[in-house]
Amino acid sequence: MTTAKRKILLIYTGGTIGMITDSASGALKPFDFEQITLEVPELNKLDCEIKTFSFEKPIDSSNVTPEIWIKLVKIIANHYNDFDGFVILHGSDTMAYTASALSFMIKNLDKPIVFTGSQLPIGIIRTDGKENLITAIEVAAACDKDNQPLVPEVAVYFEYKLYRANRTTKLSAEHFNAFASFNYPKLAEAGISIDYNLSAVRQPTTKEVEFITNIDINVGVLKVFPGISPVYVEHFFRTPGLRGVILETFGAGNASSSPLFLSEIKQALEKGIVIVNVTQCKSGRVNQQKYETGRGLEDAGVIGGNDITFEAAITKLMVVLGNFTKAQDVKRNFQQPWSGELTIS
Ligand code: ASP
Repeated sequence: MTTAKRKILLIYTGGTIGMITDSASGALKPFDFEQITLEVPELNKLDCEIKTFSFEKPIDSSNVTPEIWIKLVKIIANHYNDFDGFVILHGSDTMAYTASALSFMIKNLDKPIVFTGSQLPIGIIRTDGKENLITAIEVAAACDKDNQPLVPEVAVYFEYKLYRANRTTKLSAEHFNAFASFNYPKLAEAGISIDYNLSAVRQPTTKEVEFITNIDINVGVLKVFPGISPVYVEHFFRTPGLRGVILETFGAGNASSSPLFLSEIKQALEKGIVIVNVTQCKSGRVNQQKYETGRGLEDAGVIGGNDITFEAAITKLMVVLGNFTKAQDVKRNFQQPWSGELTIS
């Protein structure tokens, strides 16, 4: 008995991975993605059926906007029933943001969506792109004996490691090992074989998949630092239309206990602005109960972001604000994990 080959949709958005050196000028330029198998003939040997979809104008991921997230969600929605898994090639600079956003915009996901990219273009001899691409496709196609996908969630694959997307952060502008997930274990590691950490992988619900395309960009980030001026804070909170703020704090979620600072926070909350406390530390979590400098924020009504990454927090805030009007609904939804992005204890 033969089983049908897994079908994978490979979506190319841009970024370094899709570039080759122009033989005449020596400059890097995007290659015709339809010709991907000429650049990576190994794809023909994979035991799955690959179809490609390329953005007409590939972009550097620094130019990614929420419209691009919506475009990706729509592409996946339109092809959801025809494919077993999706691989998205994306520049590494903002990959953690796009991948986090998609993890919130696609609810009840039951198929793999694997993001990957590279530090060196695929057309360069020492590229990390080929391994990243080939293994990302293998992960998206991997299934168990009952034909169920092994990783039915949004993930990032980079330099032999597979992470939950909304737990990732880009860490290095230089090393092949560019991503990290400080607060959540790896979902898999590739060596001679791909070693899955199945107990860390989210299991799908039985609910119908849902695609969300409402986003509200009326958000801002206030990163505290010693000496932050009250005038700056005051002007920040008077940004027209502001509905949500990520407050980047010290250590376990601490900030100045100066009455002026706290009064600005309180006034903003009274106006209905939702404020989420995310630590500037790479690992560990916010606990607003621990120090007096955190309690002031807790008592005022700031949401403690626990161990969420900055990338997941800002994208989740945009999605939640896009779908709920009342501050209390935004707050309640933010505090609940939507797709494994935060640990609640
Ligand atoms: N600037 C590029 C981008 O993010 C870097 C990369 O592809 O990794 O699109």
